[in-house]
Amino acid sequence: MFEALIAAVRDHYRTTGPIPLHAPVFAGNEQAYVAETIQSTFVSSVGSFVDRFEADMAALTGAGRAVAVVNGTAALHIALRLAGVGPGDLVITQPLTFVATCNAIAYAGADPVFCDVDRTTLGLSPEAVEGWLTDNARIGTDGLARLGERVIRACVPMHTFGHPVRLAELANVCARWGLVLVEDAAESLGSTYRGQHTGTIGRLGSQSFNGNKILTTGGGGMILADAALGARAKHVTTTAKVPHPFEYVHDELGWNYRMPNINAALGVAQLERLGAFVAEKRALAQHYIDGLAGLAEVVREPEGCRSNYWLNALVCDDMAMRDALLAATNAAGVMTRPIWALMTTLPMYAGAPRGSLPMAEWLAARVVNLPSGIRGGG
Ligand SMILES: *Cc1c(COP(=O)(O)O)cnc(C)c1O
Repeated sequence: MFEALIAAVRDHYRTTGPIPLHAPVFAGNEQAYVAETIQSTFVSSVGSFVDRFEADMAALTGAGRAVAVVNGTAALHIALRLAGVGPGDLVITQPLTFVATCNAIAYAGADPVFCDVDRTTLGLSPEAVEGWLTDNARIGTDGLARLGERVIRACVPMHTFGHPVRLAELANVCARWGLVLVEDAAESLGSTYRGQHTGTIGRLGSQSFNGNKILTTGGGGMILADAALGARAKHVTTTAKVPHPFEYVHDELGWNYRMPNINAALGVAQLERLGAFVAEKRALAQHYIDGLAGLAEVVREPEGCRSNYWLNALVCDDMAMRDALLAATNAAGVMTRPIWALMTTLPMYAGAPRGSLPMAEWLAARVVNLPSGIRGGG
């Protein structure tokens, strides 16, 4: 089976050299647009590419407003602030995620609560959230859900490797318990749930354009929101400066989270290629599914969803198979890596409240990511 896997990877990438897990490809207008910012000297916080990138992203996703920021962690931090998350609050999320999800919760002064994930989506399970709330929370006279005295303010599902979570069911749980739904859509740019773009179904959503994501701005992120919250997001991520031709007045605590124009130029060019990127990734996923048929389980998009297949993943039979697969593929120059260590195993989050997490633990021992980058020159 390892030979079949290595052959499937090499067959797609058509090289005998080392194959990375994911690498960016700049084969469109990237050089021209970045050069334009340098020639104009508008490389920093002022320039037309930021506006263009935000407008293009809003158009693509259908969000009322898209606000570009320095990275995906900052985007989620501000999304949580605007969702009302503050010091002492609790925020329900999944233990199977990249650490940035929890770090953003911590930056907002809150603590995560970990609930289990679904086998099908690898993301937050609506039943697990409902179960934990029923067993542990109560709704006060003010309509807010509480664990003891602490307010449970929001719920942050993450669309693992681009596969959308069961948003309709999660939205129902959130509505019943008065939680604000905020989507960490860092990995799912281009993915849709029942025809709607991920990141636009919750009250707010966040995206990342880090170097390893489906498209990159070097470093960057985007807040997706309706027009009113989007305007708030723009204000607080640009130091809360009151618009004025020359005076510096700031009317609340703000952040300097602006995306520089030179990064936005890269983003505009990359976004022009997104359709081609998603198409190639979807074809690669099918190539893995076909190539490993009867040998190993490749994670597939959930029903009713169209996934961007940002990172392809295999579910191994057990940890021994996983470790053997990691050793064999990496030794053969085909980079693979295990899914993240569960957040509950990290020192910062080990003490956080949690439900029982059998599926997250089961998947954490078995899931391996396969090379998923776009082919160079594409
Ligand atoms: C990439 C990522 C982020 C944000 O990462 P940045 O490096 O800050 O852009 C957040 N959450 C998840 C799940 C991610 O994969």
